[in-house]
Amino acid sequence: MRGKKFFLIAKIMLLVFLLSDYSVALCSELNGEWKYHEGDLLVAEDKAELWLQSAIANDQEWKSFDFPHQPPLSVNTNVVWLTTTLPKGQYISPLLFFTTTEQSFRVYLDKKMIYQYGDLQYKRFSYGMSWHMVALPEEYEGKNLTFQMYSNYPDRLGIFDRMMLDDSVRQTIRLFQYDAMYVVAFPVTIFMILIMICYYLSMHKHYKLHVYAMIFFSFFALWLVAASNTKLLFLNFPVIWWYLLLLSVYSMPIFLNLTVYEVIEDNKKKKIKLVVAYYIVLALIAIIGECIGLSTMNYLLSPFYISGGIVQSYVAYQLAVSAYRGNEDSKVLLIGLMGLPLAALYDGLGAHFRIVPWVTHVTPLGIFAFAFFILRILSYNVRKEQELTDLALNLQDEIAVVTQKSQIDALTKCYNRNKFNEALEKEVALSSHNASPLSMLMIDIDFFKRINDTYGHDIGDEVLIRFTEVIRTKLDKRHIFIRYGGEEFIILCRDSDKEEASQLAELIRRTVEDSILLEDEKITCSIGVSQWRNTGTNNGNFLKRSDLALYAAKNRGRNKVIVEDEI
Ligand code: GH3
Ligand code: MG
Ligand code: MG
Repeated sequence: MRGKKFFLIAKIMLLVFLLSDYSVALCSELNGEWKYHEGDLLVAEDKAELWLQSAIANDQEWKSFDFPHQPPLSVNTNVVWLTTTLPKGQYISPLLFFTTTEQSFRVYLDKKMIYQYGDLQYKRFSYGMSWHMVALPEEYEGKNLTFQMYSNYPDRLGIFDRMMLDDSVRQTIRLFQYDAMYVVAFPVTIFMILIMICYYLSMHKHYKLHVYAMIFFSFFALWLVAASNTKLLFLNFPVIWWYLLLLSVYSMPIFLNLTVYEVIEDNKKKKIKLVVAYYIVLALIAIIGECIGLSTMNYLLSPFYISGGIVQSYVAYQLAVSAYRGNEDSKVLLIGLMGLPLAALYDGLGAHFRIVPWVTHVTPLGIFAFAFFILRILSYNVRKEQELTDLALNLQDEIAVVTQKSQIDALTKCYNRNKFNEALEKEVALSSHNASPLSMLMIDIDFFKRINDTYGHDIGDEVLIRFTEVIRTKLDKRHIFIRYGGEEFIILCRDSDKEEASQLAELIRRTVEDSILLEDEKITCSIGVSQWRNTGTNNGNFLKRSDLALYAAKNRGRNKVIVEDEI
């Protein structure tokens, strides 16, 4: 079952991957020869064009470099010129699409400027990524494409993420295709956050696990937005997005490992605590350094990724040991912990070595590796809910047993007086509803005091037990047998009028008389019979009438059945 789910997810991922990459082969990546020239900030447009005219002619001023990697610039430079020759291509409306780190630049076709971004002046920030689309004239083939770029951060000067020449329509589609994985992953991440919030709010116990997982997924969602391209169409704030991206990158491992901390065994918690502490310290240094203008959030990224790889391998090992020993939570979390970095590694290698189709980033799909974790939490909570329901049902059973016990006489196992009122009410309601008769027998053992006095209380008890056993053989489901007092009993007879009831009473009287309840001693009983009357108040003295009948039976010599009319 689990295997099937896994393959389904894998198939969906593959489909999305193929769909988003199908058009890469049709465009040109501009990976021909690129040359660079540093220095010479020429702000005025006409001056730059003039300079370019002679510079293009003078080949010695340009050096080759490995595009799209950064050209080897000197330490304090702020300006670089990059140039290449545009290749052939059959495009209906050719368009140049590229992404750069946030920096100011101009684009020239031969010596004519065709695009400008920023004003090539000092700016406090030069962070973040932005993408650009530059339309080219139809006769672009064989012409020089030149960039004049300015950044006050030399380490990011002249860096392109990718550059493509293609039809304008396809380029626009590509912008969305590039984001396809982010778009796919975003609702899934939001869904996971919502699940965590729901469980956190509805649980009696507020599990920290849910909180940490929720915050981790929230930073992941933030990262998805910050790393995607399309958002710049609506919110073109590359610097803000860049900081949000960094913030999410530095925060994610903290909350991911806190989640690990919650599920792993106690003896391993200390190790995970150290890992969390490491990430917190790193994040603090990065943020504080950034605040005092040291650009540490950016500079610490490489050490963060490298050390993070080592530290997360260690955490993965600890989780693997824990999973091997049977911790299900560790197992599902391990899948997430492996899936995300593997996807990131794929993207990293792809971007660096260009060995895989690089338009698509698969890191966002890393969130799917956490689906198992979510499923586990869901099934755990459903099971917990089931257990609670079972517990409640058991409790109900127990309550029923206890209630019944409190209504049963310990000596004779008849119902005791507690049951009488409840049973009477129920039987009266039934009779009234069905318009059926209801009668009552009141039975009292004759001269029982004497039995006690002669043979002792214990023998008296034995007699009581046998007395009820003998009577019970004459009863069926319609009869409710109640010990009303010491040696006084009541039988409620459903569906019986006083004639039927008196027949039963007579049967009981005779059976008791004929039974040997005690050696050498004849034991008899007297019975009074009455029938319920639907008169409203006090059930028409239902109980009183049978009591009077019993009293009459005693008076008339005992061992008798008297029906209420005979009093
Ligand atoms: P009568 O024919 O008029 O009913 O005479 P009686 O002796 O039965 O008179 P009464 O009903 O007043 O006496 C009931 C006696 O039943 C009193 C008490 O000693 C005895 N008794 C009541 N409960 C128990 C019990 O649980 N065990 C025993 N052994 N005796 C009980
Ligand atoms: Mg008696
Ligand atoms: Mg009595």
